[in-house]
Amino acid sequence: MSPAAADCGPTVTRFAPSPTGYLHLGHVRSALEGWRAARHRGGRFLLRLEDIDRTRCRDEYAAAILEDLAWLGVDWDGPVRKQSEHFGDYRRALDKLDALGVLYPCFCTRREIQAEVARAGGAPHGDAGPAYPGTCRRRGAEEVAAKLRSGTDYAWRLDLARALALTGPLDWIEGECTRQADPALLGDVVLARKEFPASYHLAVTVDDAIQGVTLVTRGEDLATATHIHRVLQALLGLPTPRYRHHPLLTDAAGRRLAKREGAPTIRLMRQQGMTQAEIIALAEAAPHRPASGARGWR
Ligand code: GLU
Repeated sequence: MSPAAADCGPTVTRFAPSPTGYLHLGHVRSALEGWRAARHRGGRFLLRLEDIDRTRCRDEYAAAILEDLAWLGVDWDGPVRKQSEHFGDYRRALDKLDALGVLYPCFCTRREIQAEVARAGGAPHGDAGPAYPGTCRRRGAEEVAAKLRSGTDYAWRLDLARALALTGPLDWIEGECTRQADPALLGDVVLARKEFPASYHLAVTVDDAIQGVTLVTRGEDLATATHIHRVLQALLGLPTPRYRHHPLLTDAAGRRLAKREGAPTIRLMRQQGMTQAEIIALAEAAPHRPASGARGWR
């Protein structure tokens, strides 16, 4: 099943930060990619706060993100969509997947998965690490029912083999090229947990469709995730946006800029007296590294 031919209507792009810290230059680069694409073609640029994980997200960061963007002159259209206000949308998508028979509950702990991967000599490996080895997919119905009754914690995983039997081969438009989806890179990903409405994969797929996004611009560390997003779009009957995964900014030592590595924040640069133009020039001209590596979104 191929994505619909790239439409020629107004381009709708988005920037979707998680408010788990202040913006750094890498975020600004991402935001500018989407903003320029929309503004250049008379389209719309949307802002979404990916704040489902209430343990890691803070309102203070959310407010600072909006303030920094506005200060930089990166304006957005319409209200900001906050994922934490739309749990019902993710629930409905999960129910639909359940009705298709492509979900199963997984009771494995992280430690059990690591042990199983090691025992099996390594499950299929993508650049995001080994895929889930499928332990819980093979459990019998009675065992599963007993575990659910006992109140054991679980996650909902996608049964990728069943999903692909329904969707057939998939692709997407990356820049000007067609790219074949290889969802096995990620395998049976987690889509939700017992007490957690949606994983990144489910929420982002649902949101991009609800917001009418036609072009997804984001860092190439998320390109691996797109292989699974295509499967979810096909299962849920959602349109496929075009994608542009841009190279990541690096520091002088060639390391990817990241919150957890202490990349300097836009807040700090502002306090040090840098102007909007200087920060934008740095974000667009900073060195970047060629494609490699991906974050573990499983
Ligand atoms: N929320 C993700 C992040 O902050 C971005 C997700 C996306 O653009 O698809 O890295």
